[in-house]
Amino acid sequence: MLGRIAEEQERAIGEVAEEAGLARHVSAPSIKGSVEMDWSSEDERRAFLASLLADCAAVSALAKEAECGGEELELIEQVIRQDVEEDPGEGTPKIRRGVAKERMPSVIDPEMRHGHKSSGRGYTGHKAHVAVSETGVIVDVDVTAPSQSEGSKVSEAIDASRAVTGSEIDDVLGDCAYSTRNAQAQAEQSDVTLTTKMPGHRRGFFAPGDFTVNEDGTEATCPAGQASEKCVRRDDGYVHQWSGERCGACALREQCTKAARRTLMVPPDFHERRARER
Ligand code: SF4
Repeated sequence: MLGRIAEEQERAIGEVAEEAGLARHVSAPSIKGSVEMDWSSEDERRAFLASLLADCAAVSALAKEAECGGEELELIEQVIRQDVEEDPGEGTPKIRRGVAKERMPSVIDPEMRHGHKSSGRGYTGHKAHVAVSETGVIVDVDVTAPSQSEGSKVSEAIDASRAVTGSEIDDVLGDCAYSTRNAQAQAEQSDVTLTTKMPGHRRGFFAPGDFTVNEDGTEATCPAGQASEKCVRRDDGYVHQWSGERCGACALREQCTKAARRTLMVPPDFHERRARER
């Protein structure tokens, strides 16, 4: 932002920074390297953070006065919002614990986000949506934030692939991420049969398909022939539960659950998923 202001005022960045009392941000290659402090001290770290926030406020005011740096202003405000919070006890700022929703990890690439390949494997970057023809030619590529599901791009990918190849497309293969309801609905809308790999289940344990579930999902019977003892609404589906008492005394428990009691998620497309698994 100091650079933008200097550019706007046709002055040297050092001069602008010096005048605003922000010289430390341009005189040293690294702001962290420019301070002498005890990094193991929570109090010193918080004091340093507070001084950085004061610098941000000063440069923001300067940019507004100079009527420039709109994008940079938004970026710096977003970084502060996502990474800093006020300690409710002491009223001082501190680095936020955990990851804010839609956190922007890089100011160099503001569209980059954190995502997950699986529940245990995270990544930071973008998500590529790639359509490949039967002959192995890439016919469509799109890049989105990791939070955008694969399913949301199915129609667009099919339309683009049809346009690029000039061919009719009736059948599409997708990986596991395309097994969602949204992906299937979009494929149906585009008149395409979408066949995907289905999410795996823990090896050696009963899978959802081993349970008997009625049409509307409100009744479920486990492989031991026991009806669920509790059924609660979750989002637009149901969660069935068997009691710890019943599961504890069950001869099939080893194949069913490691927890004290078994639960079964029944989303609205429970039966469709079983059909697709078959
Ligand atoms: S452990 Fe519980 S849910 Fe699983 S088969 Fe036995 S009684 Fe049924």
